Amino acid sequence: MKATETKSLVLLHHHLKALRLPTVAAECEKVATQAAADNADHLAYLLQLTELELLDREKRAAERRLKAARFPTIKTLETFDFTARPSVNKVLVAELMRCEYVDKRENILLVGNPGTGKSHLATALAAQACAKGYRVRFFRTTELVTALIEARDERSFLRLKGQLAKLDLLVLDELGYVPASKVGSELLFDVISTAYERTSLIVTTNLPFESWTEVLGSERLTGATLDRLTHRCRIIETKGESYRLHDAKARANRHAKPATETVDEPAPSR
Ligand code: ADP
Ligand code: MG
Repeated sequence: MKATETKSLVLLHHHLKALRLPTVAAECEKVATQAAADNADHLAYLLQLTELELLDREKRAAERRLKAARFPTIKTLETFDFTARPSVNKVLVAELMRCEYVDKRENILLVGNPGTGKSHLATALAAQACAKGYRVRFFRTTELVTALIEARDERSFLRLKGQLAKLDLLVLDELGYVPASKVGSELLFDVISTAYERTSLIVTTNLPFESWTEVLGSERLTGATLDRLTHRCRIIETKGESYRLHDAKARANRHAKPATETVDEPAPSR
C-alpha cells in the first residue's frame, strides 16, 4: 500500500470515529475489496456499509434496552409450556406479544399462586417489548417501594420518579407478597396512578382482588388502586399447582421409571 493510501486510511478511520460509525470503520476495507471484486459501483458500496451500520446500531440499542430493564432472569415464550397451564389463554398471550397494549397504555395483570409462571410470562412479554424498542423496567414491587422510601432526599426521590416517568412499560412483580406499610402503600398507589394512561403496567400477584385490602391496608386506597390498575386491563390467571412442584414430580417419576424398564411399578410417593 502506498504512503498516501495509508494516510487516507488513517484519516478515514479518524473521521469515522468522530462521526461515530464504528461498523463502517470495521467493515469498510473488507467491503471495499469485495465491491471491487464484484465490480459494484460506489453507491452500492455506500449503501451496503450504511445498512451494516444501521443493523448493528439497532442491535446495540436493543442490548442496552434489555440491560436497562434489569430482568432478574431472561425467560422466553418458547420455553413456556402452555399445556401445563391450561388456564392461560395462548391466543391472548400471542396477541400481547405484538405489544399493541403498550401503545394503548393498557395494563396486564397476572394472578395466580406462587410457582405458576407469572414472573416467567411477565418477563417474556416485557423482554419482547424491549426488543420492539420500548423502554422497560422490571421491579420486584417491594424493591421499588423500598427504593422510594429510602430515596434519601427530595432530589433522589424525584430522580427515581423521573426515571419511571420515562418508561413505556413498568413491571411490578410480586405485588402483595409482603403487606406494605402505610407509607409503602401510598407510594405504590402514587406509582400506579402516575402510570395511569401514560405508562403500561404488568403486575404479577398471588392476591385475589378481595384480599388486596389486607395488603394495602386501607379500603379507600385499595379501591382507588384497583380502579386505575384494572381500567383497560388484560387479566391472565395462572391457575393450578406450582410448576416447580410439577417439574420435580415429573423428574422423580422419570428417575423411578427408566425408559428401558418394562415392569409397571407404582410411582413413588413424595
Ligand atoms: P411465579 O412468578 O408465578 O411464582 P415463576 O414464573 O417464577 O412463578 O415460575 C417458577 C419456575 O417455573 C420458573 O423457573 C419458570 O420458568 C418455571 N415455569 C413456570 N411455569 C412454567 C410453564 N408453564 N412452562 C415452563 N416453565 C414454567
Ligand atoms: Mg414470581
